[in-house]
Amino acid sequence: MQFDLRTLFIVLVILYACLGFVCLFLPYRMPGSRAVSYWGYAMLTLTAGMAGIALRGLVPDFISVVIANAVTLTTFVFVLASVRQGHEAGSYLFAWSVICVAVLLLAYFTYVLQDTRIRIAIVSAAIALLTVQPVLTLIAAAEESSRRARLFTAFCVIGVGLLMLARALLTIKWGANPDFLAPDFVQFGSILLFGVFVVLGTLGVVWIETAQLQSDLARLAMLDPLTETLNRRAFMLEYERELSRCVREKTGLALAIFDLDHFKDVNDSHGHLAGDQVLRSIADTLRASLRGHDVLGRYGGEEFSLLMPGADMTAAMAAAERARLAVGARPVEVGSLTIPISVSAGVATYGANGSDWESLLSSADAALYEAKHKGRNRVVAAPGAAAPAACAKVRSTSK
Ligand code: GH3
Ligand code: MG
Ligand code: MG
Repeated sequence: MQFDLRTLFIVLVILYACLGFVCLFLPYRMPGSRAVSYWGYAMLTLTAGMAGIALRGLVPDFISVVIANAVTLTTFVFVLASVRQGHEAGSYLFAWSVICVAVLLLAYFTYVLQDTRIRIAIVSAAIALLTVQPVLTLIAAAEESSRRARLFTAFCVIGVGLLMLARALLTIKWGANPDFLAPDFVQFGSILLFGVFVVLGTLGVVWIETAQLQSDLARLAMLDPLTETLNRRAFMLEYERELSRCVREKTGLALAIFDLDHFKDVNDSHGHLAGDQVLRSIADTLRASLRGHDVLGRYGGEEFSLLMPGADMTAAMAAAERARLAVGARPVEVGSLTIPISVSAGVATYGANGSDWESLLSSADAALYEAKHKGRNRVVAAPGAAAPAACAKVRSTSK
């Protein structure tokens, strides 16, 4: 078997170029995907570097050794940029320093002391060093949604690092043919395996992006875009979940419906944009007044629903009252305007005010109506039937 390195380089150059173009094309299909774009730049840089190395002996050493290896090493700056997308920007000083030192040493061992063996060791050791930051970034990232994809990509980058370390050590130990492109098992094997890790790494980065995108879409599908509280569908899912838990653990479950007082006047006097700003600000205030496991949703236009797992009527009334006072105490600033807002709320509890969603909601609605009728800016409890405050069983769930 002939380990012809030039042929291998040409095949890999074509492969990396294809990967590069695929990665630069994909973001058109996955908007916002900068990580894949940067990986695409890395692939094109690698293509150029490898193409330069493949020309060894046909062009001056300055191009095929110094420039080609400098370009190849720059690939890892783009790899770092790729895995850093969506996270805090970090410094590239370490990567550029490694590249500069490696290129200076390469030039020295090309023009002053001709030594192919040392040159291979320098480039391999530099690549191994350049994989450290991307691996640490991939492992440190906290996103649960893309954790497996990140670990897979980290495995590929670690593979490249360890492979290059082994190549450096083996080349130092066993020496290298002064003609870099002469058949050599260690060089052929390590460059081929490098290619395999690059292909798998590309898969990993695309996987990270799709996992991230899926989780972003799932999150967006749950939120009301204006107030970023749960939309009605997501709120109902939470209700179903909390109801099962409340039945299982025999605890209370309360629902409060908040409605902004005279909100139409805000729109009429200051415009709908100011109205939107008010809705956002009230959602923030309500959110800030919640306990950890309470669930806030936007039920309708200027109505918010608050689910309070574990709460009986006394606790739910206290929580709703706290939220009402918080809204009243914080007039909304819109540009130079200060708009005072108040809310009314109706509170109902599962069991005492009904044992299905419809009756719970209509009890809370009736209490809200009463709060409006009594002059607004108040919280009213739905009159309870003589029924247990804790959940006993699920008779029917929402529709
Ligand atoms: P009440 O105290 O009786 O609740 O009076 P209200 O004016 O708040 O109630 P009404 O139902 O008459 O008006 C609700 C207003 O909320 C009318 C509607 O234009 C406005 N609204 C609903 N959704 C939005 C929204 O997303 N943005 C803005 N700016 N206004 C909205
Ligand atoms: Mg309303
Ligand atoms: Mg209203």
